[in-house]
Amino acid sequence: MKTTLAPYFSAASDSTSIPFAQLMFWSLSDVQWMQKALRLASQGADVGEVPVGAVLVHDQQIIGQGFNQPIGGHDATAHAEIVALREACQRLQNYRLPLQTTLYVTLEPCTMCIGALIHARVDRLVYAASEPRAGMVGSQMDLSMQPFYNHNIQVHRGLCSEHSSQLLKTFFRERRRLAKQNKNSV
Ligand SMILES: [Zn+2]
Repeated sequence: MKTTLAPYFSAASDSTSIPFAQLMFWSLSDVQWMQKALRLASQGADVGEVPVGAVLVHDQQIIGQGFNQPIGGHDATAHAEIVALREACQRLQNYRLPLQTTLYVTLEPCTMCIGALIHARVDRLVYAASEPRAGMVGSQMDLSMQPFYNHNIQVHRGLCSEHSSQLLKTFFRERRRLAKQNKNSV
């Protein structure tokens, strides 16, 4: 069987390698889907959007995907999770998703996104980096397990968090550098 596991055991400290302890917890498919979400996040960064990517998976198939694109889309709601949800709902022609759907996203969801995931009946949420300022799945509050909702989401956090944090840090560093450059050139 062809395996892509080997690189993850790398002892190198680059941000794409995954510590052995994490591999004991995550399945190989979890790792692969999160890596797909990270590639989508990078696509967002390439067009000047804050790099966040999301993949919705059911039965080991992608049913929706997207990256953060509020600027390009002139749409305050175009977070990666919402883009992925809309794609899946259109594809399935249903506002609710099938049982056992998992959303992989590279950053902890905000209030809007966790709300939308609950409405769509996503079963499981896997996110990479925490969002300490506005994260609503543990950082500021945890809306995934509130008794007043009629649906709860199983949450697993921290997969590829280093890689995701690095993408975000690089993006904001570059944005600050360009802003400074433009200011100096005026
Ligand atoms: Zn959001």
